[in-house]
Amino acid sequence: MKTLQLKDRKFALSIPEVQIQQAVKEVAERINRDLADADPLFICVLNGAFMFAGDLMRHININSQITFVKLASYEGLLTTGEVKEIIGLNESVVDRNVVVIEDIVDTGITMERILASLKNKGARSIRVASFLQKPEALQRDIRLDYVAIKIPNDFIVGYGLDYDGYGRNLRDIYTVVEE
Ligand code: 5GP
Ligand code: MG
Repeated sequence: MKTLQLKDRKFALSIPEVQIQQAVKEVAERINRDLADADPLFICVLNGAFMFAGDLMRHININSQITFVKLASYEGLLTTGEVKEIIGLNESVVDRNVVVIEDIVDTGITMERILASLKNKGARSIRVASFLQKPEALQRDIRLDYVAIKIPNDFIVGYGLDYDGYGRNLRDIYTVVEE
């Protein structure tokens, strides 16, 4: 089996490039059909979604725009929990049909925050396109409109997703090997 080492952890090939590319193309085709007349604004959540967004957009052939945001974490004033806020969104989403492009939905807590924020900013409609989803880990009642590939509840890297900053450049998805 194809394996690799990133820092202190070993990873094994899990989803090969051809399967990824086919799944991404299928998501793009669905979006092209569903949003043909919607003039969507795609919002890519950096860093993890950069590769998915790049490949996805090459197959998008409808009138559309794309922009890029980051999530900033800070400690809430009233709670001890981590709160994430969207930063870098310079475009108005008022009355826009928005498609959030994410790398992975795990518990769904991050996506719930993003959706609440975009709704608050006045988006007309909000859809989610996530490259990966871990259905077993989902803890929030959120609608994921487009999911390229569903995976088990294991830590993965590659295709934009990192382990401590490493592995984002990999064309395939690798799963951590417990030793
Ligand atoms: P959630 O809020 O849905 O629990 O977590 C979403 C975020 O957790 C993702 O955007 C990603 O940054 C991170 N994440 C969740 N699972 C994985 C994984 O298996 N590998 C990597 N690299 N990041 C993950
Ligand atoms: Mg992410």
